[in-house]
Amino acid sequence: MMSSLGHYINGNRVKGKGTRTSNVFDPATGQQTASVSLATVQEVDDAVASAAAAFPSWSETTPLRRARILNKFLRILEERASDLASVITLEHGKVHSDALGEVQRGIEVVEFAIGAPQLLKGEITENVGTKIDSHSVRQPLGIVAGITPFNFPVMVPMWMFLVALACGNCFILKPSERDPSASLLIAEWLSEAGLPPGVFNVVQGDKLAVDALLKHSEVSAISFVGSTPIARYIYENAARYGKRCQALGGAKNHMVIMPDADLDQAVDALMGAAYGSAGERCMAVSIAVPIGDGTADDLVERLKKRVRGLRVGPGHDPEAEMGPLITKEHLDRVSGYIEAGVEEGADLLVDGREFRMQGYNGYFIGGSLFDRVTRDMRIYREEIFGPVLAVVRAESFDAAAALINGHEYGNGTAIFTRDGNAAREFAHRIKVGMVGINVPIPVPMAFHSFGGWKASLFGDHHMHGMEGVRFYTQLKTVTTRWPNSASAGPEFMMPTMR
Ligand code: NAD
Repeated sequence: MMSSLGHYINGNRVKGKGTRTSNVFDPATGQQTASVSLATVQEVDDAVASAAAAFPSWSETTPLRRARILNKFLRILEERASDLASVITLEHGKVHSDALGEVQRGIEVVEFAIGAPQLLKGEITENVGTKIDSHSVRQPLGIVAGITPFNFPVMVPMWMFLVALACGNCFILKPSERDPSASLLIAEWLSEAGLPPGVFNVVQGDKLAVDALLKHSEVSAISFVGSTPIARYIYENAARYGKRCQALGGAKNHMVIMPDADLDQAVDALMGAAYGSAGERCMAVSIAVPIGDGTADDLVERLKKRVRGLRVGPGHDPEAEMGPLITKEHLDRVSGYIEAGVEEGADLLVDGREFRMQGYNGYFIGGSLFDRVTRDMRIYREEIFGPVLAVVRAESFDAAAALINGHEYGNGTAIFTRDGNAAREFAHRIKVGMVGINVPIPVPMAFHSFGGWKASLFGDHHMHGMEGVRFYTQLKTVTTRWPNSASAGPEFMMPTMR
């Protein structure tokens, strides 16, 4: 039966009051599975009011008690990881093993956030002046909001809210309207773990809800992950309304293959990084840059066979390596890019548009492979977000580095080589936020931080790790002197510590 999805406010699932809804589909079958309510401004206000009521007590709850609740949530997640992964697969389409991997990466952020008592320790200096001490503490911001993309309906919200909650904030999540179910399960499981009502709320919605959060005077900070045009919009408007903001955008990730690289390893890495999750990852490798024509010819020959052999299928099929795309519109968009690549003169070696999935009417496309792509082509410049790998041949390491540094995006990149000097030079010189050396998708662990450079991130802070703690807290420095001697009288000069 088709479900009707609403919000999660003040510790309960609530039906949407507005008349606007959005349809949710199973990307493998093309069948509608649910309808999700799109929040009105009033519903956003209700969520903020519930968070505001919860904040005084939650922010005063000791970090250790907050961590204990997250620890219970961790146990629930570990027990039900497979159920959550199935929900992801049903609405997103990615294969179940990949969805489980997503949940695991979320679990790692819980494990990090449980360290809150340690993470929130401040600094103290004794005797900054005679008998005067200074200490600094990090205090929560208040109510913070997260706006998240369709491609990681569990992991990306967890990058945000776990650190925010651990630091004592209340959180409002506005998930993607394409795969909204996981957020409601997470909200229920947080309540089951003992999180007080109002500390974590979910408002489903679109631009209207996002704008209401941006404008709301009681929301102190916005975390966003999604496409670059919207990330820029969020950043500009958050600044206009006086909010702290971190807005992560799109990507076009290059992988350099040096002539001395282990080619088998490089091909395996490219297959997973370009076609895993049907290329719908912000850390997907969409550009392979082999150095020299010898390396390029060899690489392309091997890739051709492997891309033709990709096992495409519905996400619940354990044999499938790659599932469908998220929507019919996105399938058309990706197909349009393949057409554009052909028209612009790139060599289309494998055409994913020829793929047909027997017995399913969903949004399937096979893997595509282009050779001899150049930097002026749209398929090089723009994010396709589909299973399309473009080979851009470069004559030297320097040419490859210049290519990457000249690209608009700077999320992730990798180099495959056995040469330590080349690897070191690459890591040092490249203008990209996350770099892999013989690692194709260098997504940092939860205790490091995730974020790109250039048009892949607007704002100062990356997500999770200590960057997350800094984003979700404000620094206060207290300077103390206890009156143990008679006052020396008023001083009118700038205080100096004598
Ligand atoms: P999107 O930008 O369309 O949507 C992201 C969020 O913004 C959703 O919650 C959506 O409801 C909301 N939104 C959409 N249009 C809006 C508007 N006009 N005004 C206000 N809010 C709006 O992104 P998507 O298609 O859901 O996700 C794919 C994109 O996310 C890709 O570009 C991908 O690279 C990017 N992404 C980036 C990272 C990263 O860490 N940098 C991670 C995952 C995804």
